[in-house]
Amino acid sequence: MGRAFVYVILGGGVAAGYAAQEFVKRGVSHGELCIISEEPVAPYERPALSKGFLLPEGIELILGTRVKSADVRRKTLLTVTGETISYKILIVATGARALKLEEFGVTGSDAENVCYLRDLADATRLVSVMQSCKDGNAVVIGGGYIGMECAASLVINKINVTMVFPEAHCMGRLFSPKIASYYEEFYKSKGVKFIKGTVLTSFDLNSDGKVTAVSLRDGSKLPADMVVIGIGIRANTSLFEGQLTLEKGGIKVNGKMQSSNTSVYAVGDVAAFPVKMFAETRRLEHVDSARKSARHAVAAIMEPEKTGEFDYLPFFYSRVFTLSWQFYGDNAGEVIHFGDFSGKTFGAYWINKGHLVGSFLEGGTKEQYEGIAKATRLKPAIEDLGELERQGLGFALTA
Ligand code: FAD
Ligand code: NDP
Repeated sequence: MGRAFVYVILGGGVAAGYAAQEFVKRGVSHGELCIISEEPVAPYERPALSKGFLLPEGIELILGTRVKSADVRRKTLLTVTGETISYKILIVATGARALKLEEFGVTGSDAENVCYLRDLADATRLVSVMQSCKDGNAVVIGGGYIGMECAASLVINKINVTMVFPEAHCMGRLFSPKIASYYEEFYKSKGVKFIKGTVLTSFDLNSDGKVTAVSLRDGSKLPADMVVIGIGIRANTSLFEGQLTLEKGGIKVNGKMQSSNTSVYAVGDVAAFPVKMFAETRRLEHVDSARKSARHAVAAIMEPEKTGEFDYLPFFYSRVFTLSWQFYGDNAGEVIHFGDFSGKTFGAYWINKGHLVGSFLEGGTKEQYEGIAKATRLKPAIEDLGELERQGLGFALTA
């Protein structure tokens, strides 16, 4: 049993949806393009988990179907249903999976009130668990994006939240201690408690198999009606291990998003691509790069002569409570903070090897965000850090 397509997109997430839209925009015939996804629904905007499906018409959709092996030499994929799908060009958009506590030696994460959040099914489950523990206690494990965003949503839904994470401050991969402290104080003002510098060691379970308490390495025990876990992700590369070159935990691609096999492209969270402005290969885990890398791959496939190297400015953002921030570039080097940290608008620049390489802004206007993006892309030389600090946001707006 088998089917053949010119283009196959493996994965049905954000990058798959944007790649499909780009194919249709540029013109593919009926039956030329197929998407295979493990999820039972068409690609959707994951950040909102909003059911805002991304799929244009005229594409063969093979849903609820996991691909269990790939043969890049024969250009075939084998699904769990036993079907062989062959392709001329493959776009790998398999994204990533949430890391499980079991990978850190803790058991019990399959209990019915322990939640992860990666896809629509997880989101639906999280909402139903949350609704069943009104006014109860939630323990949020992890101080990254999932932890911070879920903690805010839980508090808004009148649940008592304690966040537990190993680092000294939240969002350790991006925030400076000063920026983190602003958000932690804001969260505290909303009732969130923080337990930092420790990790979960075990769960107490009742006879129904539900978690009732969480034990921490520092010896304390927290009562819990529900647990949310956001301890990072791993890119879904396993189908291609030993067949494609991997780097930084992802599939290594060139500036056209093409892997070490010329018929295979990789986009989104699974791709490790050259970030031109930092002359370095990076794997990013954010929606803007998923969208843009997907479009770029399709442009490179359909119009190779007209498509240059992907030249991407990393962009991350989040919105929680009434807060909203954006970050552009790289958080390497020395940090210069600016603005009013007791007010609504503040930010920071990162200066590395004499150049501004990263900018963060909380509470900015559209024009201000555009300003920091533009300034960061220019990578201006910075001679006087004191002067930069004095100019603050004004520096970016006049750069
Ligand atoms: P994914 O969207 O993860 O899609 C991967 C797809 O591949 C899935 O459909 C999966 O089922 C499928 N798949 C994997 N393996 C197989 C297989 N073997 N066979 C068949 N199908 C397979 N980023 C931001 O920048 N801003 C945000 O505000 C933001 N919010 C987020 C909120 C949540 C709750 C989550 C989970 C992520 C958020 N992100 C955000 C990150 C962003 O969603 C990801 O960077 C983006 O989804 C990556 O897109 P992708 O297509 O590479 O991977
Ligand atoms: P993150 O990598 O952002 O954060 C993981 C957090 O868990 C870190 O604080 C990490 O600490 C901590 N941690 C790691 N191991 C343990 C452990 N054993 N016990 C307790 N804490 C631990 O990942 P998330 O899970 O929060 O997010 C998953 C993905 O979803 C990311 O790719 C993210 O980009 C994406 N996402 C993005 C959003 C956005 O851009 N607004 C919103 C939601 C999700 P340490 O650093 O010390 O390892």
